[in-house]
Amino acid sequence: MHSLKSPSARRWLLIWIGSVVLAIAAIGGTARLMAQQHLTHEAEDRALQYAHLVQAAVPGMEELFRTGVPAEQTLQQLHRMRQVNEIFRIKLFAADGRQLLTSDDLNKPGFGLGGARLGDHHAERNNDVAEVVLGGRSFIDLKSGVGRPDRPAVYSEAYVPFFAGDAVVGVIEVYVDQTATRDSIHRGLAGFAAVVSAAIAGLGGVGLVQLLQRLAAQRKAEERVRYLAQHDPLSGALNRSKFNELLQQAAWCHESGGPGFAVLYIDLDRFKDVNDSLGHAGGDEVLRQVASRLRAVIRHGDELARLGGDEFAILQGGVSSMDDVRRLAQRVVDALAGAFVVAGQTVAGGASVGAAIHGTDAHTVEELMQRADLALYRAKANGRGGFSFYDATLDEQLQERREQLRDLREAVADEALTLHYQPLYDKDGQSLVGYEALLRWTHPVRGNIPPSAFLPLAEESGLIETLGAWVLDRACREAVGWPSNLSVSVNLSAAQFRSNTLVGLVTRALAESGLAPTRLELEITESLLMTDTEQVIRTLEALSGLGVRIAMDDFGTGYSSLAYLWRFPFDKLKIDRAFTLGLEEDPKVNLIVRSIVSLAHAMRIRVNAEGVETVAQMQMLQRHGCDELQGFLLGRPVPPSSLLHANASNRPLERPQPSASSLMALSEMTTRA
Ligand code: C2E
Ligand code: CA
Ligand code: CA
Repeated sequence: MHSLKSPSARRWLLIWIGSVVLAIAAIGGTARLMAQQHLTHEAEDRALQYAHLVQAAVPGMEELFRTGVPAEQTLQQLHRMRQVNEIFRIKLFAADGRQLLTSDDLNKPGFGLGGARLGDHHAERNNDVAEVVLGGRSFIDLKSGVGRPDRPAVYSEAYVPFFAGDAVVGVIEVYVDQTATRDSIHRGLAGFAAVVSAAIAGLGGVGLVQLLQRLAAQRKAEERVRYLAQHDPLSGALNRSKFNELLQQAAWCHESGGPGFAVLYIDLDRFKDVNDSLGHAGGDEVLRQVASRLRAVIRHGDELARLGGDEFAILQGGVSSMDDVRRLAQRVVDALAGAFVVAGQTVAGGASVGAAIHGTDAHTVEELMQRADLALYRAKANGRGGFSFYDATLDEQLQERREQLRDLREAVADEALTLHYQPLYDKDGQSLVGYEALLRWTHPVRGNIPPSAFLPLAEESGLIETLGAWVLDRACREAVGWPSNLSVSVNLSAAQFRSNTLVGLVTRALAESGLAPTRLELEITESLLMTDTEQVIRTLEALSGLGVRIAMDDFGTGYSSLAYLWRFPFDKLKIDRAFTLGLEEDPKVNLIVRSIVSLAHAMRIRVNAEGVETVAQMQMLQRHGCDELQGFLLGRPVPPSSLLHANASNRPLERPQPSASSLMALSEMTTRA
């Protein structure tokens, strides 16, 4: 080994360091050059694409270049297309080099004419620009916008000739923002510059080879990034943003006389089941198979996208009638009807399709997508495996329902719903025994929406599961803070019995709140017992086993109430408000109420009477032997902060006792109202 003290060794070391520095500088220069080349190519690509788009989608361009005066339609379309993706400005020049317009000034008179000429601000190369571009080739100038707030950090001015036949009739100058591309190149370069420098220091020439390999890999990676930016990696279909971009281009072309097109929305009918039975990997495989079946039914010029989940969409090009769309929709439905086989397991196929046609059903791309989606929603509502066109009249109501469902979904997620509590009194009408929890929704725009308006929606959409769980949880948490002799009644929907989670939910709500099970009462309606009776009764028994009480709500409104009373040992029966209302008018109602009470008592079931609004009603119900009273006379549903006991200490829980005269006055008022 040489010692560094020897003069020759020192000389060699200096030469070695010098050559490494030189090599790094050379590589730095090469990398810079390659980056510039890359940016130039990209700018040229973008500009040429854009020029083609203008040629296809803007009417009257030749006319404009020839006369220098744009038609109104030409102007409108140029205005719409003045910013597309990375393109932020355009200028047009006539064949004699005069500037015709710039996109910034499209709505000013004169369109920013001002006597500018082709290549003006490339002073040193002024003639080059005109010569090259008017000679039929593109000219790209890479620029830095640093220090100019109105410009991107890196951008290109790309001039491309505009042809009519073989002749150049004008020039489009396209400004392309390349800051993002430059940044990605820099990130790549910085990473391997370090590696390469080390390689040169160690291996000399080998480093250069590695650099070149790295650059090739970098380019590949960039291509991959571009692919990923436009595609769904799972299915290989386009992603939503690329799909939107293509729709926009198709719309521009169509508006200037190009071919018509439609959007088809596709949704698998049972994808949730697929995921449940095959797991996520199996679900992914089904999605891949769906994409490949769909690819097989579309034609050249159509585009396939996956919009998320199991939702696919097709842009159908060259559409001239509804029949064209109907035929493709049928092919899609047929293609997806067959079962899927994944890892030896078979799952049922089936999909619904909704379609909307540009120009007929919608005039903007957003509208088009939204209407295709609505059509799909309707196709699903009509039964699975179907196809539906957008239909303005039918869909108004649907749209409203959809918006309401969306709002409700948000409200549930944001916990924007609240519980109010209506007091339940003992038969004396004086001692508070508990409260019934009632849902309230205050919509930010539409104000208070009654539960009768939003509960059916929640039930149909399945939202009731989340909502019901929340109600249980909230009611238990609130009730645990009340005096211990007060119970809380929670209403349950039939839909909550459908999944097998109810017993678990109740157990959890009790455990987490610490509420004694005997203080919770669950109200169900008899309609629940009319379907799937055995399973419902098993669930009720399990709930009862927890120590929770079960009440039958709205008694008397169903069909065969008595039959169901025998099936399960209810703790309480709530006589529907309709009976209370009829007491004063119809003697027969009194008879019915009295029979219900004696029947219930014979079965050791307590009786609650709902909807007590007048003193007379209260007195009659007391006489008939009701055990519990509830109604506006005794107390309306109120927010937790206004509960009667909230201001008082634990006892007494007596209702502030109204004087006889005030009761009479109240009674008169309420009977008159
Ligand atoms: P429900 O269980 O029969 O509740 C009693 C309804 O009668 C409540 O209406 C209450 O405000 C009203 N009410 C009470 N006293 C009187 C009175 O003296 N006169 C009149 N005219 N009405 C009275 P609300 O709050 O609009 O609830 C309607 C229905 O919505 C409830 O009927 C119940 O079936 C359902 N509901 C409310 N909250 C929930 C919930 O958290 N879950 C479920 N599944 N259903 C709920
Ligand atoms: Ca109830
Ligand atoms: Ca009721």
